[in-house]
Amino acid sequence: MENTCFYCDSTIDQHESVHQVAFFRENEELEKTLCGTCYTEWLEGMKE
Ligand SMILES: [Zn+2]
Repeated sequence: MENTCFYCDSTIDQHESVHQVAFFRENEELEKTLCGTCYTEWLEGMKE
């Protein structure tokens, strides 16, 4: 199964970590897949 990062649109290889995060937008929960880089930035609050 191929995963694509929600932010940078890069393909996440299977040997790389795939991070699932949940966003809440207008009372809706959205599951997004992030690559390691974007996940780190997301954790640091650089992305919303
Ligand atoms: Zn990314």
